[in-house]
Amino acid sequence: MGKEALVLIDYTYDFVADDGRLTAGKPAQAIDGAIASRVESILSKGGLVFVTNDLHFEGDTSHPETALFPPHNIKSTFGRSVFGETGETLKAHRSLKDTQIFYMDKLRYSAFNGTPLNSLLRQHGIDTVELAGVCTDICVLHTAVDAYNLGFHGVVRESCVATFVPGGQDWALNHFKTSLGFDVIKK
Ligand code: ZN
Repeated sequence: MGKEALVLIDYTYDFVADDGRLTAGKPAQAIDGAIASRVESILSKGGLVFVTNDLHFEGDTSHPETALFPPHNIKSTFGRSVFGETGETLKAHRSLKDTQIFYMDKLRYSAFNGTPLNSLLRQHGIDTVELAGVCTDICVLHTAVDAYNLGFHGVVRESCVATFVPGGQDWALNHFKTSLGFDVIKK
């Protein structure tokens, strides 16, 4: 079996904290412990963690999200830092940065869009990606679709994804399973 790889999507202060600028709130906060323990477990086994965070620029009116959402994840702001226990776990393993932990900025919903994620996964011989973070039916979904189209198998744990959209969690989990062929793990 190849190395495990976790793609952590938008688990930032702006998307998770009560006072984040585009927060998914309590459901997002509730998955912190589960994500932190996946990060710990994967790193301890020599696996890889890709921390992919949305990047926006102050005052940018050209981005398509400008019309859809309030400003969030602005470059060089605290809002882009990884939230909570998950953030602390990554910090505790900062010596693994660029060998097992890779940080990348993404400019659209998908973690594959404009990032080196696909190249790094292939370089490390990885064919299965586990997705975690927020929002299940937005950025996790778009990442899942790209993973599928690029030929990766996917795994999603229900305990490690969340959304603020009513009905979005169940819809997206079902889509991962029935349309993308992912393993959806009920824990
Ligand atoms: Zn965004």
